[in-house]
Amino acid sequence: MALTGIQIFKLLPKTNCKKCGFPTCLAFAMKLAQGGVELSACPDVSEEAKKTLGEASAPPIRSFELGTGEKAVKLGGETVLFRHEKKFINPCALALNVKDSLSDGELAEKASEVASSEIDRVGQKLRVDAISVEYASGDAARYEAAVRLVAEKAPEAAIILNCKDVAAAEAAVKAVAERKPLIYGADDGNAEAMAAVAKAHGVPLVACAQGPEALSVLTEKIKGLGVEDIVLDSGAKTAREIIEHNTQIRRSALKKNFKPLGYPVINSVLRDDPLFEASIASVAIAKYASIVILGSIEKWKNLALFTLRQNLYTDPQVPMQVEQKIYEIGEPGPDSPLMITTNFSLTYFIVSGEIENSRVPARLAVMDCEGLSVLTAWAAGKFTAAKIAQFIKESGVENQISHKELILPGQVAILSGALEDKLEGWKITVGPREANAIPTFLKNRA
Ligand code: SF4
Repeated sequence: MALTGIQIFKLLPKTNCKKCGFPTCLAFAMKLAQGGVELSACPDVSEEAKKTLGEASAPPIRSFELGTGEKAVKLGGETVLFRHEKKFINPCALALNVKDSLSDGELAEKASEVASSEIDRVGQKLRVDAISVEYASGDAARYEAAVRLVAEKAPEAAIILNCKDVAAAEAAVKAVAERKPLIYGADDGNAEAMAAVAKAHGVPLVACAQGPEALSVLTEKIKGLGVEDIVLDSGAKTAREIIEHNTQIRRSALKKNFKPLGYPVINSVLRDDPLFEASIASVAIAKYASIVILGSIEKWKNLALFTLRQNLYTDPQVPMQVEQKIYEIGEPGPDSPLMITTNFSLTYFIVSGEIENSRVPARLAVMDCEGLSVLTAWAAGKFTAAKIAQFIKESGVENQISHKELILPGQVAILSGALEDKLEGWKITVGPREANAIPTFLKNRA
């Protein structure tokens, strides 16, 4: 049974040392009771208290990995309902569903699509994380062969065994046991047998029921059979059901500390129309899914879903930033141009990408403006003539170049006069307003 804030408080050190990030032990205890923080945030809590707190100290939504190796995806572990409260932690995994009734050639092709889906966006690697193999053939031997084949062709992807037949699922688990596949899954009819397979092989298991209430009964049963790593499928299919079920599940876990629903959620959004499927997937990503199963992974769809996922799982209170320094692009010499911009990640990656596109080697001075873009930083007084001059002087770039010319972003052309005053002996050139004009600008100067 969940403990109240006061009950938890009595077990804490009561030193109000603030190491947990809360001003007092009482504030920490209240948050812990709501499931908004983990007990491990207090470094001084006694072993005895840890034991006593038991369930109350467990994360409100269980966290574990899907797959193995460097590209394993961490699921669950979320602590808030809304990202303006605190950041969402573990981005949801995207999975491609394939049927074992496809030919070997088709399976290999689809697995290769997953394996080659990775793209680089603002410095982060984004990809389709998993492949779900659906038991459609009714032939356990074929299923095992199909699972082996996709596992081989997509060697780093997580494997989901979309199969309710216990014997077929067990043979497939054994075939790819080292990849720690997720069994999808257990329902009222096969729960005991599927739980036994999951427990024997130490793999996670999806609980499938119609609606959160039935699901909570099933997860209690599966947990009682010794399986700890559980994923929830509430049977939600439409956008409305996904929003309603996923919200109810997240709310019950976080606000009521209701352990039977304190697990990551999976949504299968398969549709014949890829655009419709992308729309439903967007709803699932935005509303708490930890795994989304897709029927196709066209490049346009991946880009839209990757971007949505990335945006939702960044910290809204901390802009994505890159390190302040002079970046060398394309082996610049002493006479290569010197440009300047701010350290907002998106700005840096777009500007540096366009410099690369120009094939003109250059230096890019990236100034720390707390992750703000050029215009925002200028409006906030962080990208001013005085601050730019100080940064350029302290950067040491003068020792690397044989000229004294700085190319300013066109959007802050207004700073050029003041900057020439502050940077004595320097020529300030106003560059393009938009990054996509940089290649032409640099080529025309070369
Ligand atoms: S770190 Fe522990 S002892 Fe210190 S204020 Fe937080 S809860 Fe209290």
